[in-house]
Amino acid sequence: MAVAVGYQDKTDEQKAITEMVRQFADKEILPNAEEYDHEDKFPEPIVEQMKELGLFGVTIPEEHGGMGLDLTTYAMIVEELSRGWISISGVVNTHFIGSYLLMKFGTDEQKEKYLPKMATGEIRGAFSLSEPEVGSDVQGIKSTAKEVDGGWEINGQKMWVTNGLRSGLVFVLVKTDTKADPPYKGMTCFICEKEPGESEVPGLTIPPKIKKMGYKGVESTELIFDGFKVSDDHILGGRDGVGEGFRQMMDALELGRVNVAARGVGVAQRSLELALRYSQERKTFGKPIAQHQAITFKLAEMGTRVEAARLLTMKAARMKDAGERSDIEAGMAKLFASEAAHQNAEEALRIHGGYGYSKEYEIERIYRDAPLLLIGEGTSEIQKMVIGKKLLERHKI
Ligand SMILES: Cc1cc2nc3c(=O)[nH]c(=O)nc-3n(C[C@H](O)[C@H](O)[C@H](O)COP(=O)(O)OP(=O)(O)OC[C@H]3O[C@@H](n4cnc5c(N)ncnc54)[C@H](O)[C@@H]3O)c2cc1C
Repeated sequence: MAVAVGYQDKTDEQKAITEMVRQFADKEILPNAEEYDHEDKFPEPIVEQMKELGLFGVTIPEEHGGMGLDLTTYAMIVEELSRGWISISGVVNTHFIGSYLLMKFGTDEQKEKYLPKMATGEIRGAFSLSEPEVGSDVQGIKSTAKEVDGGWEINGQKMWVTNGLRSGLVFVLVKTDTKADPPYKGMTCFICEKEPGESEVPGLTIPPKIKKMGYKGVESTELIFDGFKVSDDHILGGRDGVGEGFRQMMDALELGRVNVAARGVGVAQRSLELALRYSQERKTFGKPIAQHQAITFKLAEMGTRVEAARLLTMKAARMKDAGERSDIEAGMAKLFASEAAHQNAEEALRIHGGYGYSKEYEIERIYRDAPLLLIGEGTSEIQKMVIGKKLLERHKI
């Protein structure tokens, strides 16, 4: 059941592409998501179809083989994919961050080398900041790269790398100057090439995927670097990129926040659809539960959350596309939309009563998937820190 809310001002191109992705989600993702989720299996056939639809190259410029679309259109696509299953958008999302890093900071050679293969999905991207002891406090990472004869040697342990195994390129943030003060000035992003699917390559071990409560199918892994060798060509932005990694990654994360917000809208929207359907089918005390005011009010709040989350997400995306400063807006969109997804998932589960707790019902999966959105690309607490700090900067008296 599609619930038409928002987006009155979509362009014809945006309408066509989001309709195409919605149909893809209805036909290919939704009917199969439960099986892949229950078996924690990578959805290979769905990913192959996404390659054919060009979804790995949405934001990559046409000159490099992509569609050259803007962040706003990308966010609309991510909403539709996430409405189907957030693990499917997870396959594209780290790839999108990787391609953004290359487009914005890569050298011409790096762009020419990687972007055409990324546009087709032949190689997929991942990004890696987090470590076993560090997530929010990015400047506290311990992994290092030291200069050696002919290049660099990377050492250290990374954690929670989405698409860590199947990616062919991982954008890895490490310290190249451990004494830098402040620490961010000594951080560099390396483009680590590896064979997709190989768990052992010289200098790098990828242990078995981490077992998770939700967000299944797409793998999250550790990366253990032990003398992994790269040349200068693998520094994002070339030699000038040394010491620039923190700034580059934070820029990409701002975009990533709009991306997670769009995922939140998709999850909140799907939860609403399921609640609207079930509440009209299920009867108690002689009438559909939707007719009990307590449930009608829940539906009203859920629908309002979807609309508000979508508007915040679109605002942040459009500002970024217009080249305007959008750090506060991206943070607000991420904070609100991820909390909206979590709340709508819980309300939809409650509306399903006992069946919501059964693996026979889609909402059970969504309820396990939704909390990821509260964590990735900065937790809600970190969003509030960023929003509050930036508000005070903008409105200093
Ligand atoms: C499924 C999954 C996929 C992921 N994929 C990736 C990926 O692809 N690449 C990647 O690099 N990382 C990835 N991550 C890691 C994710 O970005 C981190 O988990 C997240 O940033 C939080 O870091 P942490 O887990 O170390 O929590 P911590 O930083 O240890 O925080 C723990 C708690 O303390 C709170 N907290 C921390 N500092 C403060 C403060 N100053 N004030 C108030 N509260 C605070 C946090 O909000 C949180 O509630 C993934 C995580 C998950 C679960």
